[in-house]
Amino acid sequence: MPDVLTLGEIMACLRADGQVKLGGTARTSIAGAEANVAIGLARLGHDVAFVGAVGPDQFGELARRTLRAEGVGVQALRTDPAPTGIVVFEQRVAGVTRVDYHRNGSAGSRLSAADVENAYAALPAPPRILHITGITPALGEGPALAVRAAVRLAKAAGARVCLDVNHRSRLWSEDVARRMLTELSAEADIIVASEDELVLATSGDAEASRVRSLLAGGASEVVVKRGAAGATAFTADGAVSHPARPVTAVDTIGAGDAFVAGYLSGTVDGLPLVERLARAVTTGAFAVAGHGDWEGLPTRAELSILDLPDGTAVR
Ligand code: ATP
Repeated sequence: MPDVLTLGEIMACLRADGQVKLGGTARTSIAGAEANVAIGLARLGHDVAFVGAVGPDQFGELARRTLRAEGVGVQALRTDPAPTGIVVFEQRVAGVTRVDYHRNGSAGSRLSAADVENAYAALPAPPRILHITGITPALGEGPALAVRAAVRLAKAAGARVCLDVNHRSRLWSEDVARRMLTELSAEADIIVASEDELVLATSGDAEASRVRSLLAGGASEVVVKRGAAGATAFTADGAVSHPARPVTAVDTIGAGDAFVAGYLSGTVDGLPLVERLARAVTTGAFAVAGHGDWEGLPTRAELSILDLPDGTAVR
């Protein structure tokens, strides 16, 4: 039985060390919120499977090989005739990154409900947790139906559903986003959001009332990410906050996905709430302390590295 099943668009990622228009050199990698979470979980030793589609091209091969190398199950990663999507990152000035997506009509955006149904049919047993984000339904009708199918099948199989709101304002209007995210929030057991995203998942004029309405709507945990200020988890028993781990921030992209990987890892391990949060802020800190969206994520043995004093040499 996989611990976690997730679905979404996996893309090629080009990181330019200078301006692209001036001929900056780019390093090739892969990107995608759900893939980042899957890799984070696999590094921590969990059984995780990814449902998605890549193109019949070298970027698709890179995505497939990377997931496989990281130990993520790729049985449900389909090869589609459309090309693999691409995201280009270019550090314009220190602290400001230009992000340019080439994902219209990409293989990942052609994900369908059938992909999810086939994936469930091929799994040896249903997952314990389904992880979805607000990015996938924003990619088009097919991906939105894929997310709905994934939720339906997860609930029918007794799996818990985790939703990371992950609002991408470039992909859809706020009105359309609010409708879909409210619908998905009503189905989710665990809801993760940044402070400014909660408003898209529910109504209410302040954080406390939004959280109350999500908990009343069926979620058992609402987790609010607060960047360098850490995070707060709300349950019917009250709120638990955890400060961020103090690290030198090198690249904050991917912190949210790393955080979710840590939180779900703690959930699968059956840790109490405060320890789930502690693992989440730790994996979030690893993401910001290293380059890349997922490259710096820790293995289980590395989780304690941040406790070591500066200057420590590790094997
Ligand atoms: P992104 O969209 O860039 O992935 P996000 O907005 O989804 O990020 P954040 O709240 O920025 O998520 O970060 C998630 C978690 O990562 C935070 O709750 C915190 O634990 C950790 N984190 C983020 N920034 C820092 C930082 N500067 N130092 C230490 N930890 C951080």
